Amino acid sequence: MKSEIIAVGSELLLGQIANTNAQFLSQQLAEMGLGVYYHTVVGDNPDRLKQAVNTAKSRSNIIIFTGGLGPTKDDLTKETISSLLGRKLVTDENALSHIEEYFKKTKRTMSENNKKQALVIEDSFILKNEFGMAPGMAIEVNDIHFMFLPGPPSEMKPMFLNFGRDYFMSKLGQQEKITSRVLRYFGIGESQLETDIQDLIDSQTNPTIAPLAGDGEVTIRLTARHKEETTAFQLLDELENKINERVGSFFYGYDNTTLIQELMNVLHEKDKSISAAESLTGGLFTEQLTAVKGTSKVLNGGIVCYTNETKRDLLKVSEKTLETVGAVSRQCALEMAENIQSLTNSDIGISFTGEAGPVTNEDQPIGRVYIGIAASGQETIVHRLHVAGGRNTIRKRTVKYGCQLLIK
Ligand code: ATP
Ligand code: MG
Repeated sequence: MKSEIIAVGSELLLGQIANTNAQFLSQQLAEMGLGVYYHTVVGDNPDRLKQAVNTAKSRSNIIIFTGGLGPTKDDLTKETISSLLGRKLVTDENALSHIEEYFKKTKRTMSENNKKQALVIEDSFILKNEFGMAPGMAIEVNDIHFMFLPGPPSEMKPMFLNFGRDYFMSKLGQQEKITSRVLRYFGIGESQLETDIQDLIDSQTNPTIAPLAGDGEVTIRLTARHKEETTAFQLLDELENKINERVGSFFYGYDNTTLIQELMNVLHEKDKSISAAESLTGGLFTEQLTAVKGTSKVLNGGIVCYTNETKRDLLKVSEKTLETVGAVSRQCALEMAENIQSLTNSDIGISFTGEAGPVTNEDQPIGRVYIGIAASGQETIVHRLHVAGGRNTIRKRTVKYGCQLLIK
């Protein structure tokens, strides 16, 4: 089964609104196991709409339209396609009384135009509009299923979920379904990750493997086609294990999770409190941690210590360290982490110091970062990293590295 979506509306072409209807319908159809092969956007113009439909007819078994079912002159989806299919438009009495009632309820007068909304393609299956006036329709012509849905998402979504889905289910029977799982990695580049699993990518057909990079992270989307839920989990588990035998040391979580969320989970599980001494990151770590639910149980506090004076006076970093090796150093990160831990009575103290550019103040390359981790009962560890990117990228990635070091 090949399906495609045609969104009608000049406002889409003008960039005034985004085609969220196509996004929603694609997700729904994928869940139902109906592959979507094309999205088309066409303006409120009969000739171009006809062209788009003719192209769609030549390559798809299911064509879903959204938009242009309304009462105004530019709403021409029904008129155009009924003539193309050689079908008449007839008044649907249920839809007409629904519209009349709607006007009575809202105490407005109904115009002649509104009657147009009750016109439907003859012999089509009517999809009720519970949140507006124009009904939707579905019809099969020469083995192609056509479905017409209204433009406003608030009408289109419930119509599809409550009636459109069932229509396809009953017409097409049990289809294969699609289940996806996203694996998330940090600290490995996309090209390295791809190289490490290239043979799996090449040979894999079900599930498929799709790597994607962004924000210093790499994700791998695994997509399984299946009939039963249990087969999907099994297929996905097997492939995930194969992949993580190779790159598992960079893996940190599934689907929409984040490093900071995973850190929050670990701190909760282990019942540990944390504090941060932030120079380079200027409070970004604590800001992100407080954005996640459950902060009050694990975050004791933090100090933004940007200048040497603040590091010395508030955080008690030794004068000697600041004078001899400077703020961007292993020793400074160590003292910052240990001091914030003891000052706030936390189980863990983490520190961030480094050179984010654009100009360097100390004799350090831009991107040089030290992250100190002091934990009660353990020796303090300082990690020296080189983080690539511009100033803000370096700061954001540093926070991610900090999370990853704490999760491990
Ligand atoms: P109405 O009866 O409201 O006129 P309609 O079925 O004629 O509905 P359109 O006139 O094409 O639909 O669009 C109405 C509104 O619905 C648009 O102004 C826009 O806000 C929204 N809309 C239309 N198409 C889309 C789309 N593809 N994605 C998201 N929103 C859309
Ligand atoms: Mg309209």
